[in-house]
Amino acid sequence: MDTRALVRPACGSAVSLEAVYAAAVSHRFDALGADGVPRRLGIMGGTFDPIHIGHLACAEMARDACSLDAVVFTVAANPSLKQHRSIVDVHERIAMCSLAVADNRRFDVSAIEAARPGITYTSDTMRLVRHQFPDTVELFFIMGADSLRTLPHWHEANALKDMLRFICVSRPGRFDEGTLLHRCREQGFKIDQVSAPLLDVSSSEIRKRARAGRAIRYLVPHAVCSYIEEKHLYSAKG
Ligand code: ATP
Ligand code: MG
Repeated sequence: MDTRALVRPACGSAVSLEAVYAAAVSHRFDALGADGVPRRLGIMGGTFDPIHIGHLACAEMARDACSLDAVVFTVAANPSLKQHRSIVDVHERIAMCSLAVADNRRFDVSAIEAARPGITYTSDTMRLVRHQFPDTVELFFIMGADSLRTLPHWHEANALKDMLRFICVSRPGRFDEGTLLHRCREQGFKIDQVSAPLLDVSSSEIRKRARAGRAIRYLVPHAVCSYIEEKHLYSAKG
């Protein structure tokens, strides 16, 4: 895939992927904090295969509740927890995220993990992010509540505890958020809890629907839906 290509949302202005790939972390926010003003930056990590309204609402609810200045979606190239299945090419997932954030000036997408060989760990990404911004920029990692199940086992969990605050946004599922939150906090993770409307949407369900030729419109942003259809990303043809 030509990463310099322009991704054109069905409506609205064109999105330049070149700028996304040229950035240190985020083309919109690389200069955040350079003026010395304290800022709060949210990082939302994920596979985004594909990005959907649950991700976007989760990020927006966290931004609003925790007064974040910006949220950057970091797209995992090769996540350790998803080794058991094949994932759509990282550049396609970045293109979809770029389309999804185009109309929100407080959101951006980062290609920071795309060039890294091997398994992509959040700890490596967050070190790079920390290095990019002055200490006056406080870093928050946004996650849905289901991620609390695995958080204590993340690679270099202790380094993450020191580097970050976490924001946990409610998500439907068969798990006890309160118990998981308590366990993670006991282990030293600093976690803010954000209650939000529960959106029972997942990338797995969207992939399954697309494969079966069923509708995914309104579960993903319109431009993402068109992109998936044009490229047959999750259909038998793809
Ligand atoms: P998959 O079904 O393939 O695991 P997913 O929908 O869970 O996909 P991920 O890319 O795995 O999406 O998740 C990235 C982050 O977004 C995780 O922290 C996850 O908890 C959060 N998230 C995903 N969907 C929702 C949702 N509907 N509500 C709140 N948080 C969500
Ligand atoms: Mg998931």
